[in-house]
Amino acid sequence: MDAKYFLGEPRLLISPDALRTNLRTLRRHLAPTVRVCAVLKANAYGHGAKVIAQVLLQIETESPFDRVDAFAVATFEEADELRELEKPVMILRPVENAFLGRQRELIEHAILNGWILTLRSASAADDIARIAMHLQKRASVQIMVDTGMRRCGVAYDEFAHVLERTLHHPTLRLDGLGTHFANSELSGNPFTLEQLRFFNRLLDGYPILESVPKHAANSGAIFFTPRAHFDLVRPGLSLYGIDPTGHPSVDRPLAPVATLAAPIIAVHDVEVGESVGYGQTFVATEPTRIGIVALGYADGYPRAASNRGVVRVLGHSCGVVGRVSMDMTAINLTRCPDAGIGDEAIFIDSDPHSPASIYALTRVTDQIAYEILTGLGSRIKRVICPTSPSEQTLRDDDPPKPVFMPR
Ligand SMILES: *Cc1c(COP(=O)(O)O)cnc(C)c1O
Repeated sequence: MDAKYFLGEPRLLISPDALRTNLRTLRRHLAPTVRVCAVLKANAYGHGAKVIAQVLLQIETESPFDRVDAFAVATFEEADELRELEKPVMILRPVENAFLGRQRELIEHAILNGWILTLRSASAADDIARIAMHLQKRASVQIMVDTGMRRCGVAYDEFAHVLERTLHHPTLRLDGLGTHFANSELSGNPFTLEQLRFFNRLLDGYPILESVPKHAANSGAIFFTPRAHFDLVRPGLSLYGIDPTGHPSVDRPLAPVATLAAPIIAVHDVEVGESVGYGQTFVATEPTRIGIVALGYADGYPRAASNRGVVRVLGHSCGVVGRVSMDMTAINLTRCPDAGIGDEAIFIDSDPHSPASIYALTRVTDQIAYEILTGLGSRIKRVICPTSPSEQTLRDDDPPKPVFMPR
């Protein structure tokens, strides 16, 4: 089954070439010994975790330099999706409440699979150690330290205690020590440097941590704070080809990996004075050709793009008309008269300079790329598209060369 199989449905086309470009750009910023942990949480930022993991492994087979060394996810269930892929997996959301609900079962499963569990308290260390002891296994854990984010890392004055408990248990193996920046996407940001100083001071205070892998850098810090690379980096957004600053940069070739396309399912003309869609927010001031596309806010196309978003059809820019509704969106085809039922509208264009790029969409809806991408819904088919999906190749009569269909 292939990408073409899903023509006629909303599709997220994933470009392996773009992913490889981004990996290379990331690697070029790193010393050769630094390991790369691909962040695949939230369904790989909406791209489809299994698909992205699969493409990453394929890239690695073709060119070992472009490898990733580990995967990071937020939850147990996300880790489970990547179970068969034979890479270390770290679960970023810290373990707490180990004996509530089915948590114990999930932790057992994680220990048996060798996933790295994140700790933020001495009690979590004790709980995990106890569960591991029952399994007669060693649990792999990492400690995330709070250096200023004030979210859920271990605070400085608790660190000694958490570390002591972690090292005390023979059933725990400390496999990482990390922190996370609040302002990484700002070049030369003083708070980032302060967080980094804090982290380094902590490391200096505990020579025992010398052999434990250290990590701090997400996409922003990979580009802007080289001293934060340590042993391993955790790129998310940049891997998917989006610049952490929110604007494409000539300094860092990143290629957006995803193209969001959906088919036109109806075309009709409206006359002057007729309205389109809920709330009658669009009223035609000239004869207007309307296309109805099978994608709505339930699929994650933001309702805030109502009357303001731009989509691409057969190489033309077409405005969103009226309100985006749950399952459908109306677009203006007046200046694209050749378009018909079955043609695809590109809602997110992989060209970073397109009026329908993810960057342009974030400006229209006042969101960030993270938010839009992670909101892409489960009705959208994630498909690998080996050739770069220029708009022409998306037509039914000239489909992209497909490989396989995940899920
Ligand atoms: C999400 C996340 C990342 C990835 O961040 P990007 O800005 O997308 O590169 C890295 N580290 C942690 C702890 C995260 O939660």
